[in-house]
Amino acid sequence: MSEVCPSHDLTPVLAETEGSQDERRPVLRAVKPQTRPRRLLLCLDGVPFDVVTEAKSRGLFDGFREPTRLLSPFPTLTNVALAQMLGATPPNGYESLYFDREAQELRGGVRKYIGRRTPDKVPSSYMDELDYQEPLAFEFLIYVATDAVWRADMRRFRERFRSTPPTRDFFGFLKATDGLLHIGGPERLTVALRSLDRLLRDIQAECGSETEIVLFSDHGMNLEENRRVHLLTHLKRSGYEVVSHMRRPRGRRRVSAPAFGLCGYAAIYCGEETDNADLAESLRQLEGVDFSVRRDESDAAAVVAGARGVARIRREERAGQTFYSYERRDGDPLGLDEVVRALGEEGLTDERGFAPDAAWIARTWSHEYPDAPANLYESVYSPRVRHTADVLVSLGDGYYYGASHFSRMVRLLATHGNALRASSTAFLMSTHRDFPTHVRSTEARPFLRD
Ligand SMILES: [Zn+2]
Repeated sequence: MSEVCPSHDLTPVLAETEGSQDERRPVLRAVKPQTRPRRLLLCLDGVPFDVVTEAKSRGLFDGFREPTRLLSPFPTLTNVALAQMLGATPPNGYESLYFDREAQELRGGVRKYIGRRTPDKVPSSYMDELDYQEPLAFEFLIYVATDAVWRADMRRFRERFRSTPPTRDFFGFLKATDGLLHIGGPERLTVALRSLDRLLRDIQAECGSETEIVLFSDHGMNLEENRRVHLLTHLKRSGYEVVSHMRRPRGRRRVSAPAFGLCGYAAIYCGEETDNADLAESLRQLEGVDFSVRRDESDAAAVVAGARGVARIRREERAGQTFYSYERRDGDPLGLDEVVRALGEEGLTDERGFAPDAAWIARTWSHEYPDAPANLYESVYSPRVRHTADVLVSLGDGYYYGASHFSRMVRLLATHGNALRASSTAFLMSTHRDFPTHVRSTEARPFLRD
């Protein structure tokens, strides 16, 4: 994810001492009378549904009910996901470094991590709800001293939880799990989950059944070693000028492609005269690109173009109901042929190929691209971030794009960001409640907070 993933400049934060790190104080809020048990809500950054299911089958977290699939929106990154899941304000960009469409330049970046977590460094309003998150520097230190940071993070979380009045809900966010997976792979995370399991058992023993514990993650992760995609080289070879600002009018083929965390997606912004259809077409040739998605305003479609073909996703609202169509122009880039056929055979599609949103999600929540029509359409039409990219690229599992300096320092044993199942399938589980088989990010808030 953006805030945690390896970045290119470790120097400023590594120079900080622990004592100088910012600690957000819990915000005092009016307490409304509650009829349900007190809730400890804990987000584990980047822990995939399959990993937690497997841990549970080995006896960990056995005080919890069965986990459900929480579908993370594309691109599968922390701030994008948590803003959706908590119904919060959209972050400026997908990651700390982003392209500001009004200013026409790259903004943010590693400066965010220096010093205190002041309001201008808070990407989305969901952060105001957090009672615990780790000091800023931990987000980087996790890549240097993974186990020490994990232990310190857990200790701080526990102390903060203990000092909170026992009548109040508590919302904590452990980001170290994301770094452990990126750098240490699933084995390292398994060790960490064992210690978390012990900690939660202690808390349960102390608090009893009057406290419900809810664990969830923001996104999943592909658990394979990842290679860099040569995006910038490809763009330049294809005749594009790659720039950090577009304030002055220049060439007709101009793009900006912020490179930050080492993640499985890329966000590309086009100059005024740059044709996003040409750009999407040229990206189909690049190794590691699974597909790209862009808007086509001419018929309000989201156009998906990849090595496996081109398709248009369209959305319509009729009498308060949402419909999607998936129209193949050439091949089947999202592998939805069978789903389309089944919808047709069941009489759920109209003559123009539109089927109800509810019918699509019912057949795609565990698909190779979970909830693809709605998820990808909304990735370019709904404000998941304030500065939506012109072309969003989803890389295949095993590939990443991001800042080059850091990638020379680390082996990336896992990453996320793309629209495939492993990264899109986060989890949600509770000691007290069962959930539906799948929960969309936009439908998560009532389960998490109400
Ligand atoms: Zn990450």
